[in-house]
Amino acid sequence: MQIMESSTHRDNLVEANLPPHPTHLQTVLQELYQQYQPLRAGKVASYIPELSKMNPDWFSICITTVDGQRYEVGDFQQLFTIQSIAKVFAYGLALEDHGSDFVLTKVGVEPTGEAFNAIILDEKFKRPYNPMVNPGAISITSLIKGDDQSERLQRLLDMFHRYIGHASFIDVPTYVSERTTGHRNRAIAHLMLNCGMIDQKIDDALDLYFQQSSLMVNCRDLATMAATLANKGINPITTERAVEACYVKDILSVMYTCGMYNFAGEWAYKVGLPAKSGVSGGILVVVPNRMGIGIFSPLLDERGNSVRGVKVCEALSAQLGLHLFDCAAQAGWSDE
Ligand code: GLN
Repeated sequence: MQIMESSTHRDNLVEANLPPHPTHLQTVLQELYQQYQPLRAGKVASYIPELSKMNPDWFSICITTVDGQRYEVGDFQQLFTIQSIAKVFAYGLALEDHGSDFVLTKVGVEPTGEAFNAIILDEKFKRPYNPMVNPGAISITSLIKGDDQSERLQRLLDMFHRYIGHASFIDVPTYVSERTTGHRNRAIAHLMLNCGMIDQKIDDALDLYFQQSSLMVNCRDLATMAATLANKGINPITTERAVEACYVKDILSVMYTCGMYNFAGEWAYKVGLPAKSGVSGGILVVVPNRMGIGIFSPLLDERGNSVRGVKVCEALSAQLGLHLFDCAAQAGWSDE
Protein backbone atom coordinates (compact mmCIF):
# COMPACT_ATOMS: atom_id res chain seq x y z
CA MET A 1 0.00 0.00 0.00
CA GLN A 2 1.30 3.46 -0.87
CA ILE A 3 0.36 6.41 1.28
CA MET A 4 1.42 9.89 0.28
CA GLU A 5 0.75 13.29 1.59
CA SER A 6 1.91 16.40 -0.13
CA SER A 7 0.42 19.20 1.88
CA THR A 8 1.41 21.77 4.37
CA HIS A 9 -1.97 21.06 5.92
CA ARG A 10 -4.06 23.24 8.09
CA ASP A 11 -3.22 26.74 6.85
CA ASN A 12 -3.76 25.87 3.22
CA LEU A 13 -6.89 23.91 3.96
CA VAL A 14 -8.44 26.70 5.96
CA GLU A 15 -7.72 29.06 3.08
CA ALA A 16 -9.49 26.63 0.76
CA ASN A 17 -12.53 26.84 3.09
CA LEU A 18 -12.52 23.14 3.85
CA PRO A 19 -14.67 21.43 6.44
CA PRO A 20 -13.72 21.30 10.14
CA HIS A 21 -10.68 19.31 11.23
CA PRO A 22 -8.88 19.37 7.88
CA THR A 23 -5.67 18.05 9.42
CA HIS A 24 -7.50 14.75 9.65
CA LEU A 25 -8.00 14.45 5.91
CA GLN A 26 -5.06 12.09 5.26
CA THR A 27 -5.92 10.07 8.36
CA VAL A 28 -9.55 9.81 7.25
CA LEU A 29 -8.43 8.45 3.86
CA GLN A 30 -6.08 5.93 5.46
CA GLU A 31 -8.78 4.73 7.85
CA LEU A 32 -11.35 4.35 5.07
CA TYR A 33 -8.80 2.47 3.00
CA GLN A 34 -8.11 0.04 5.88
CA GLN A 35 -11.80 -0.35 6.61
CA TYR A 36 -12.93 -1.16 3.07
CA GLN A 37 -9.88 -2.90 1.64
CA PRO A 38 -11.06 -6.33 2.94
CA LEU A 39 -14.49 -5.87 1.29
CA ARG A 40 -14.71 -8.32 -1.62
CA ALA A 41 -18.34 -7.81 -2.65
CA GLY A 42 -19.14 -7.16 -6.31
CA LYS A 43 -17.74 -8.26 -9.65
CA VAL A 44 -15.24 -6.88 -12.14
CA ALA A 45 -17.02 -5.87 -15.40
CA SER A 46 -16.66 -8.58 -18.03
CA TYR A 47 -18.99 -7.51 -20.83
CA ILE A 48 -15.98 -5.84 -22.47
CA PRO A 49 -13.35 -8.62 -22.54
CA GLU A 50 -10.44 -6.26 -21.79
CA LEU A 51 -12.05 -4.99 -18.59
CA SER A 52 -12.27 -8.49 -17.11
CA LYS A 53 -8.46 -8.49 -16.85
CA MET A 54 -8.51 -5.89 -14.05
CA ASN A 55 -7.27 -6.92 -10.62
CA PRO A 56 -10.18 -6.91 -8.12
CA ASP A 57 -7.78 -5.92 -5.32
CA TRP A 58 -6.90 -2.55 -6.83
CA PHE A 59 -8.17 0.20 -4.55
CA SER A 60 -7.30 3.85 -4.12
CA ILE A 61 -8.76 7.07 -2.79
CA CYS A 62 -7.45 10.53 -3.74
CA ILE A 63 -8.38 14.10 -2.92
CA THR A 64 -7.13 17.23 -4.68
CA THR A 65 -8.18 20.48 -3.02
CA VAL A 66 -8.94 23.63 -5.00
CA ASP A 67 -5.67 25.10 -3.77
CA GLY A 68 -3.73 22.14 -5.16
CA GLN A 69 -3.08 20.00 -2.05
CA ARG A 70 -3.14 16.26 -2.67
CA TYR A 71 -4.08 13.44 -0.31
CA GLU A 72 -3.81 9.91 -1.66
CA VAL A 73 -3.87 6.33 -0.48
CA GLY A 74 -3.62 2.91 -2.14
CA ASP A 75 -2.95 2.14 -5.82
CA PHE A 76 -3.33 5.73 -6.93
CA GLN A 77 -0.86 5.44 -9.80
CA GLN A 78 -2.50 2.35 -11.29
CA LEU A 79 -3.80 3.18 -14.79
CA PHE A 80 -7.27 2.10 -15.90
CA THR A 81 -9.69 3.13 -18.68
CA ILE A 82 -11.89 6.05 -17.71
CA GLN A 83 -15.07 4.54 -19.23
CA SER A 84 -18.28 6.47 -18.54
CA ILE A 85 -16.56 9.18 -16.53
CA ALA A 86 -15.45 10.57 -19.92
CA LYS A 87 -19.10 11.49 -20.62
CA VAL A 88 -18.88 14.41 -18.19
CA PHE A 89 -15.98 16.05 -20.03
CA ALA A 90 -17.22 15.39 -23.56
CA TYR A 91 -20.47 17.08 -22.50
CA GLY A 92 -18.47 20.13 -21.42
CA LEU A 93 -16.74 20.28 -24.80
CA ALA A 94 -20.06 20.02 -26.66
CA LEU A 95 -21.42 22.87 -24.52
CA GLU A 96 -18.40 24.98 -25.43
CA ASP A 97 -18.79 24.07 -29.11
CA HIS A 98 -22.50 24.88 -29.36
CA GLY A 99 -23.79 26.61 -26.21
CA SER A 100 -26.23 25.07 -23.73
CA ASP A 101 -29.44 26.13 -25.53
CA PHE A 102 -28.51 24.25 -28.68
CA VAL A 103 -27.16 21.19 -26.84
CA LEU A 104 -30.42 21.03 -24.88
CA THR A 105 -32.35 20.65 -28.13
CA LYS A 106 -30.23 17.57 -28.91
CA VAL A 107 -29.84 15.92 -25.48
CA GLY A 108 -32.14 16.42 -22.48
CA VAL A 109 -31.25 16.69 -18.80
CA GLU A 110 -33.84 14.32 -17.30
CA PRO A 111 -32.69 11.34 -15.21
CA THR A 112 -33.86 8.00 -16.58
CA GLY A 113 -33.76 5.86 -13.46
CA GLU A 114 -32.48 3.19 -15.84
CA ALA A 115 -29.17 1.40 -16.46
CA PHE A 116 -26.41 3.24 -18.33
CA ASN A 117 -26.94 1.19 -21.51
CA ALA A 118 -30.76 1.14 -21.45
CA ILE A 119 -32.31 1.61 -24.86
CA ILE A 120 -34.68 4.41 -23.96
CA LEU A 121 -35.23 7.70 -25.75
CA ASP A 122 -37.44 10.73 -25.20
CA GLU A 123 -39.47 10.33 -28.38
CA LYS A 124 -41.72 13.29 -27.62
CA PHE A 125 -38.79 15.70 -27.69
CA LYS A 126 -36.80 13.58 -30.15
CA ARG A 127 -33.70 13.35 -28.02
CA PRO A 128 -31.93 11.08 -25.56
CA TYR A 129 -32.77 11.75 -21.91
CA ASN A 130 -29.39 13.00 -20.66
CA PRO A 131 -25.67 13.06 -21.52
CA MET A 132 -24.64 10.62 -18.74
CA VAL A 133 -26.35 7.54 -20.21
CA ASN A 134 -25.12 5.91 -23.41
CA PRO A 135 -27.68 7.30 -25.90
CA GLY A 136 -27.00 10.85 -24.69
CA ALA A 137 -23.24 10.34 -24.59
CA ILE A 138 -23.16 8.96 -28.16
CA SER A 139 -25.24 11.90 -29.31
CA ILE A 140 -22.83 14.26 -27.50
CA THR A 141 -19.78 12.81 -29.30
CA SER A 142 -21.60 13.43 -32.61
CA LEU A 143 -21.64 17.14 -31.66
CA ILE A 144 -17.88 17.52 -31.07
CA LYS A 145 -16.57 19.91 -33.72
CA GLY A 146 -13.67 19.14 -36.06
CA ASP A 147 -12.99 18.92 -39.79
CA ASP A 148 -12.41 15.20 -39.66
CA GLN A 149 -12.33 12.33 -37.21
CA SER A 150 -8.69 12.83 -36.24
CA GLU A 151 -9.25 16.52 -35.45
CA ARG A 152 -12.29 15.64 -33.30
CA LEU A 153 -10.25 13.04 -31.40
CA GLN A 154 -7.37 15.49 -30.98
CA ARG A 155 -9.75 18.12 -29.56
CA LEU A 156 -11.04 15.56 -27.06
CA LEU A 157 -7.49 14.56 -26.06
CA ASP A 158 -6.46 18.23 -25.69
CA MET A 159 -9.48 18.83 -23.50
CA PHE A 160 -8.62 15.84 -21.25
CA HIS A 161 -5.02 17.11 -21.11
CA ARG A 162 -6.23 20.41 -19.64
CA TYR A 163 -8.26 18.67 -16.92
CA ILE A 164 -5.62 16.08 -16.06
CA GLY A 165 -2.60 18.35 -16.39
CA HIS A 166 -0.57 15.97 -18.55
CA ALA A 167 -1.00 14.05 -21.80
CA SER A 168 -2.95 10.82 -21.64
CA PHE A 169 -3.43 8.07 -24.21
CA ILE A 170 -6.07 5.70 -25.48
CA ASP A 171 -5.69 2.06 -24.58
CA VAL A 172 -5.93 0.42 -28.00
CA PRO A 173 -6.82 -3.13 -26.80
CA THR A 174 -9.77 -1.76 -24.79
CA TYR A 175 -10.85 0.48 -27.67
CA VAL A 176 -10.75 -2.45 -30.10
CA SER A 177 -12.50 -4.67 -27.56
CA GLU A 178 -15.30 -2.10 -27.13
CA ARG A 179 -15.55 -1.53 -30.85
CA THR A 180 -15.88 -5.22 -31.66
CA THR A 181 -18.31 -6.09 -28.90
CA GLY A 182 -20.31 -2.83 -28.61
CA HIS A 183 -23.42 -4.17 -30.36
CA ARG A 184 -25.78 -2.60 -27.88
CA ASN A 185 -24.22 0.84 -28.38
CA ARG A 186 -24.48 0.36 -32.16
CA ALA A 187 -28.14 -0.55 -31.74
CA ILE A 188 -28.69 2.62 -29.70
CA ALA A 189 -27.01 4.75 -32.38
CA HIS A 190 -29.06 3.15 -35.17
CA LEU A 191 -32.27 3.67 -33.23
CA MET A 192 -31.40 7.34 -32.75
CA LEU A 193 -30.67 7.63 -36.46
CA ASN A 194 -34.00 6.01 -37.23
CA CYS A 195 -35.79 8.56 -35.01
CA GLY A 196 -33.87 11.50 -36.53
CA MET A 197 -32.10 12.29 -33.25
CA ILE A 198 -28.57 12.06 -34.61
CA ASP A 199 -27.05 12.79 -38.02
CA GLN A 200 -25.85 10.21 -40.54
CA LYS A 201 -22.31 9.83 -39.23
CA ILE A 202 -23.09 7.35 -36.49
CA ASP A 203 -19.96 5.27 -37.07
CA ASP A 204 -17.80 8.33 -36.39
CA ALA A 205 -19.80 9.19 -33.27
CA LEU A 206 -19.54 5.61 -31.98
CA ASP A 207 -15.83 5.47 -32.69
CA LEU A 208 -15.20 8.66 -30.75
CA TYR A 209 -17.37 7.33 -27.93
CA PHE A 210 -15.37 4.08 -27.76
CA GLN A 211 -12.11 6.04 -27.89
CA GLN A 212 -13.03 8.44 -25.09
CA SER A 213 -14.13 5.50 -22.91
CA SER A 214 -10.71 3.90 -23.42
CA LEU A 215 -8.67 6.89 -22.19
CA MET A 216 -6.13 5.83 -19.55
CA VAL A 217 -6.18 7.65 -16.20
CA ASN A 218 -5.26 6.90 -12.62
CA CYS A 219 -7.06 7.75 -9.40
CA ARG A 220 -4.93 10.86 -8.84
CA ASP A 221 -6.02 12.09 -12.30
CA LEU A 222 -9.68 11.60 -11.37
CA ALA A 223 -9.22 13.74 -8.25
CA THR A 224 -7.52 16.50 -10.26
CA MET A 225 -10.23 16.44 -12.93
CA ALA A 226 -12.87 16.66 -10.22
CA ALA A 227 -10.97 19.47 -8.47
CA THR A 228 -10.90 21.38 -11.78
CA LEU A 229 -14.69 21.28 -11.87
CA ALA A 230 -14.78 22.22 -8.16
CA ASN A 231 -12.48 25.16 -9.00
CA LYS A 232 -14.77 26.82 -11.60
CA GLY A 233 -13.05 25.04 -14.49
CA ILE A 234 -9.42 25.87 -13.63
CA ASN A 235 -7.01 23.01 -12.99
CA PRO A 236 -5.66 23.77 -9.49
CA ILE A 237 -2.32 22.06 -10.19
CA THR A 238 -1.46 23.69 -13.53
CA THR A 239 -3.74 26.78 -13.11
CA GLU A 240 -4.82 26.27 -16.73
CA ARG A 241 -8.48 26.74 -17.62
CA ALA A 242 -10.00 23.44 -18.81
CA VAL A 243 -13.57 24.58 -19.51
CA GLU A 244 -15.38 27.90 -19.63
CA ALA A 245 -16.66 28.79 -16.16
CA CYS A 246 -20.23 29.39 -17.37
CA TYR A 247 -20.66 25.70 -18.26
CA VAL A 248 -19.47 24.23 -14.95
CA LYS A 249 -22.90 24.57 -13.35
CA ASP A 250 -24.52 22.79 -16.32
CA ILE A 251 -22.04 19.92 -16.05
CA LEU A 252 -22.39 19.61 -12.27
CA SER A 253 -26.21 19.74 -12.38
CA VAL A 254 -26.36 16.84 -14.81
CA MET A 255 -23.79 14.89 -12.78
CA TYR A 256 -25.86 15.48 -9.66
CA THR A 257 -29.12 14.19 -11.12
CA CYS A 258 -27.88 11.58 -13.61
CA GLY A 259 -24.24 10.67 -12.85
CA MET A 260 -24.78 7.40 -10.99
CA TYR A 261 -27.32 5.81 -13.36
CA ASN A 262 -30.20 4.09 -11.61
CA PHE A 263 -28.57 4.84 -8.25
CA ALA A 264 -28.55 8.61 -8.87
CA GLY A 265 -31.46 9.36 -6.52
CA GLU A 266 -30.13 7.35 -3.59
CA TRP A 267 -26.65 8.77 -4.19
CA ALA A 268 -28.00 12.36 -4.12
CA TYR A 269 -29.90 11.53 -0.95
CA LYS A 270 -27.03 9.91 0.91
CA VAL A 271 -23.85 11.48 -0.52
CA GLY A 272 -25.32 14.73 -1.84
CA LEU A 273 -22.55 15.61 -4.32
CA PRO A 274 -22.23 15.70 -8.12
CA ALA A 275 -20.46 12.54 -9.25
CA LYS A 276 -19.87 10.18 -12.15
CA SER A 277 -19.02 6.50 -12.14
CA GLY A 278 -17.57 4.20 -14.80
CA VAL A 279 -17.59 0.42 -15.28
CA SER A 280 -13.84 0.13 -14.75
CA GLY A 281 -14.51 1.04 -11.11
CA GLY A 282 -13.76 4.76 -10.98
CA ILE A 283 -15.94 7.35 -9.27
CA LEU A 284 -15.26 11.06 -9.67
CA VAL A 285 -16.87 13.35 -7.08
CA VAL A 286 -16.95 17.16 -6.99
CA VAL A 287 -17.22 19.19 -3.79
CA PRO A 288 -17.87 22.64 -5.31
CA ASN A 289 -15.34 25.31 -4.31
CA ARG A 290 -13.52 22.83 -2.07
CA MET A 291 -12.11 19.66 -3.57
CA GLY A 292 -12.24 16.83 -6.05
CA ILE A 293 -12.38 13.20 -4.95
CA GLY A 294 -11.34 10.18 -7.01
CA ILE A 295 -11.96 6.57 -6.01
CA PHE A 296 -10.89 3.49 -7.89
CA SER A 297 -11.90 -0.09 -7.14
CA PRO A 298 -13.05 -2.38 -10.00
CA LEU A 299 -15.51 -4.54 -8.02
CA LEU A 300 -18.94 -3.35 -9.16
CA ASP A 301 -22.47 -3.68 -7.81
CA GLU A 302 -25.36 -4.75 -10.06
CA ARG A 303 -25.87 -1.13 -11.24
CA GLY A 304 -22.28 -0.85 -12.46
CA ASN A 305 -20.99 1.38 -9.62
CA SER A 306 -17.87 0.54 -7.61
CA VAL A 307 -18.90 -1.18 -4.35
CA ARG A 308 -16.00 0.16 -2.30
CA GLY A 309 -16.30 3.51 -4.09
CA VAL A 310 -19.91 4.02 -3.03
CA LYS A 311 -19.14 2.98 0.58
CA VAL A 312 -16.15 5.32 0.80
CA CYS A 313 -18.11 8.25 -0.60
CA GLU A 314 -21.00 7.72 1.79
CA ALA A 315 -18.55 7.63 4.68
CA LEU A 316 -16.52 10.64 3.48
CA SER A 317 -19.63 12.73 2.96
CA ALA A 318 -20.93 11.86 6.42
CA GLN A 319 -17.62 12.27 8.26
CA LEU A 320 -16.63 15.54 6.61
CA GLY A 321 -20.16 16.97 6.33
CA LEU A 322 -19.88 17.32 2.56
CA HIS A 323 -23.54 16.79 1.56
CA LEU A 324 -24.56 19.94 -0.35
CA PHE A 325 -27.73 20.26 1.69
CA ASP A 326 -26.18 19.55 5.06
CA CYS A 327 -26.82 23.13 6.16
CA ALA A 328 -25.71 22.46 9.74
CA ALA A 329 -22.30 21.14 8.67
CA GLN A 330 -21.75 24.00 6.25
CA ALA A 331 -22.70 26.61 8.84
CA GLY A 332 -20.00 24.99 10.97
CA TRP A 333 -17.43 25.52 8.21
CA SER A 334 -18.03 29.26 8.01
CA ASP A 335 -17.97 29.54 11.84
CA GLU A 336 -14.44 28.06 11.83
N1 GLN B 1 -17.70 1.65 -22.51
C1 GLN B 1 -18.82 1.55 -21.73
C2 GLN B 1 -20.05 1.27 -22.54
O1 GLN B 1 -20.60 2.07 -23.19
C3 GLN B 1 -18.97 2.68 -20.78
C4 GLN B 1 -19.92 2.23 -19.77
C5 GLN B 1 -19.74 2.71 -18.39
O2 GLN B 1 -18.66 3.01 -17.87
N2 GLN B 1 -20.84 2.68 -17.69
O3 GLN B 1 -20.55 0.21 -22.54
